[in-house]
Amino acid sequence: MVSPSDVPVEVSKVFDTILVLDFGSQYSHLITRRLREFNVYAEMLPCTQKISELNWKPKGVILSGGPYSVYAEDAPHVDHDVFKLDVPILGICYGMQELAWINGKGVARGDKREYGPATLNVEDQSCSLFKGVDNSQVWMSHGDKLHALPTGFKIVATSENSPYCAIAHEKENIFGIQFHPEVTHSAQGKILLKNFAVDICQANTNWSMENFIDTEIARIQKLVGPTAEVIGAVSGGVDSTVGAKIMKEAIGDRFHAIYVDNGVMRKNETETVYKTLTEGLGINLTVVDASDLFLGRLKGVTDPEKKRKIIGNTFIHVFEDEAAKIKPASGQEIEYLLQGTLYPDVIESISFKGPSQTIKTHHNVGGLLENMKLKLIEPLRELFKDEVRHLGELLGVPHDLVWRHPFPGPGLAIRVLGEVTKEQVKIAREADAIFIEEIKKAGLYKQISQAFAALLPVKSVGVMGDQRTYEQVIALRAIETTDFMTADWFIFEAAFLKKVASRIVNEVDGVARVTYDITSKPPATVEWE
Ligand code: GLN
Repeated sequence: MVSPSDVPVEVSKVFDTILVLDFGSQYSHLITRRLREFNVYAEMLPCTQKISELNWKPKGVILSGGPYSVYAEDAPHVDHDVFKLDVPILGICYGMQELAWINGKGVARGDKREYGPATLNVEDQSCSLFKGVDNSQVWMSHGDKLHALPTGFKIVATSENSPYCAIAHEKENIFGIQFHPEVTHSAQGKILLKNFAVDICQANTNWSMENFIDTEIARIQKLVGPTAEVIGAVSGGVDSTVGAKIMKEAIGDRFHAIYVDNGVMRKNETETVYKTLTEGLGINLTVVDASDLFLGRLKGVTDPEKKRKIIGNTFIHVFEDEAAKIKPASGQEIEYLLQGTLYPDVIESISFKGPSQTIKTHHNVGGLLENMKLKLIEPLRELFKDEVRHLGELLGVPHDLVWRHPFPGPGLAIRVLGEVTKEQVKIAREADAIFIEEIKKAGLYKQISQAFAALLPVKSVGVMGDQRTYEQVIALRAIETTDFMTADWFIFEAAFLKKVASRIVNEVDGVARVTYDITSKPPATVEWE
């Protein structure tokens, strides 16, 4: 076991860390992602980061790409103290142009923009960055280019359109590349990043979930101290469950989980969450049945935004009331609120997208922090989603829960279009359960990123047992995506859809017709409301 007193509270002080300075490229977070894939810990900060304000020392620095032109008046520039760190530096695209700009200013608009694949010619096989890298395909995305070799640098690779495709200042350990090694279209990009991080920066390859667990538990213990109490909401989703489990491991029953049944949860959700979290994971859990309150407040409301607001605000009230009832045995007040923030949320809030930073606070948590004067604890804030899943598996969270599709905070309320009533929720819930059951039976659940049934507020004519029926319509939706920013609809076999439709119409009272949604995102969103 790692003892709390030995552990700094910053992960970047525990693991050798590569610092990625983000100039706003759409690929910046992938650099961090790739490095972690070969067990080197990396963190991203905005390009405007003052080096003197970093309270840890990186093993190396990567300057990312970015949409700006280094020679433009308002272009962002790196703090020159980065060179005083005396660690290796790698500039990617804008990052390389920035290095060139600092060392001779030989950057200008190219006569040809270059977007897409190009073939690399490694000119200098002895360059440590290119060890094991052949003349393979690389991915380009730039309009500016280097017109001169910066002072002290040599050419190590070229491409047809980029005579300075890769440059190196071997003595100073500074490298620049025009292409993007972080995207999978650059065939050997990962080898290059590994050469940089492991060989050149000599970063330890000890970032693994197994190693993370021990230090993370010790970090939480140190942060929370020996007596403070922590509260947190659990929803039955992966992030809140894994967060709750690691809190339980760190501070036992001083962590209080609250699950609010808002009346718009999926089939058997409350029972399953209760069983899994208490019997299975030993978490100190309170279940609150507030379904009548929520459904009462939703009465007559049809506007999707209004529904979301009502659910968000009601949740805050119920959570606060329940929290006030918790009287820890220690007599201590509750001091912290657990929040399942993941690294992509952190990246979004620190990402460099202009002169100022954009900060996004989750609606519910923002409200709770203001009213309850709690401090925030975010044990997952360094992790990507798949890392959270891995952590969950290691902590013994059941497989089904770890791989569960995401479910929106307002629940089935935004999958029942129009007014939300108990009866309408029941129809959506039953149809959804059948759809998911069939998806699981067909072995498709993991391939699909999210699937659900929505209940439409229209009636349609049908015929059942020679009788005319006039009932509602269920719309099925299943999508595939990697990041939920864009998504495409999933292609089922006709026989599968046939079976699901037949089961829903036969087994769910109130449904006369089933349709399948074949719209991608954009222009549609994943949810209907
Ligand atoms: N904006 C710069 C260019 O067009 C850098 C592009 C990038 O970093 N992807 O060349």
